[in-house]
Amino acid sequence: KKRLVMSEDDYVDGVLKGDRMTLSRAITLIESNSPRHFAKAQRVLQRLLPHTGHALRIGITGVPGAGKSTMIEAFGNMLCDAGHKVAVLTVDPTSSVTKGSILGDKTRMGTLSRRREAFIRPSPAGGTLGGVARKSRETMLMCEAAGYDVIIIETVGVGQSETTVRSMVDFFLLVVLTGAGDELQGIKKGIMELADAIVVNKADGDNLVKAKVSRGQYERMLEYIRPATPGWPTHAYMCSAMEKTGLKELWEVIKGFRENTQKSGVWNKRRDSQLLDWMHSMIDEHLHNLFFEDPVITGRMPEVRGAVLDGTISPTQAVAELVKLFDVERAAH
Ligand code: GDP
Repeated sequence: KKRLVMSEDDYVDGVLKGDRMTLSRAITLIESNSPRHFAKAQRVLQRLLPHTGHALRIGITGVPGAGKSTMIEAFGNMLCDAGHKVAVLTVDPTSSVTKGSILGDKTRMGTLSRRREAFIRPSPAGGTLGGVARKSRETMLMCEAAGYDVIIIETVGVGQSETTVRSMVDFFLLVVLTGAGDELQGIKKGIMELADAIVVNKADGDNLVKAKVSRGQYERMLEYIRPATPGWPTHAYMCSAMEKTGLKELWEVIKGFRENTQKSGVWNKRRDSQLLDWMHSMIDEHLHNLFFEDPVITGRMPEVRGAVLDGTISPTQAVAELVKLFDVERAAH
């Protein structure tokens, strides 16, 4: 069956009307690796750009099993009940490595995915973290244009994915479990430094007392860590995604964060620097590809590598030579 080709106008109108089918297809266009689709997607995005930026962007991380899906489902349902439109995206660079993603199985968020006010979209498969990040950022903008006012981006701590998600959200939440001292050590300090809040999940039943202890331990550790967001002290909280407790409080914290940082100007400053960082990282990637895919460079590379290994020339000299070659070749065109 032949699929109808949608025009640029069809995409723009459909997304702005909040039509989920069109939104899905626009995201597929964004995710396509074909140059023709890329160009079209960028033209659509360009026209949608004035309708983006109003959403609250929340990043969520935590080890597998921490309860992220369960929490997002409960939290998302709560927000939908309160009249919000919630989009849930994932950034999962593992899908390209393991051929099966850790976060891929979104059937877990069954009740949320069936709601009209919610839109759930898993990470695009394949590609580098940089590629996945660009697609997720643009997907987020599409969702905003479609009227979603809370965007939740979930990631699992693999490689640099947490830093990447931090760089595209306003508020970053770390979900942890109760545990003795050793387990606390397992949490990378670097990740605590990215968090605007830490929540100890599964604070229910027999686990409640342990959760209180853990919360206290995290609070003490946080005293030694510089807050992720200037003027906003990161604290540890408790919740039970299963019993749906502590989630309203968490939402109050997030709203408090927005109010605080919008008043202080930190909100806008972060959004601005995120945009510029994004641009710069794309320049890096583009130049990197231009260089390493240049036939003159790839032709010369084996010899230069050999010379460096022989000790005939230093790596510094090798770089100087290759860059000069690259410059000369570019100038000739
Ligand atoms: P994720 O890998 O971080 O997305 O974790 P899941 O949401 O898939 O949860 C992992 C397991 O923990 C599942 O069996 C959940 O039912 C369970 N779980 C999640 N949240 C809670 C909670 O608040 N309390 C309890 N007791 N179990 C939970």
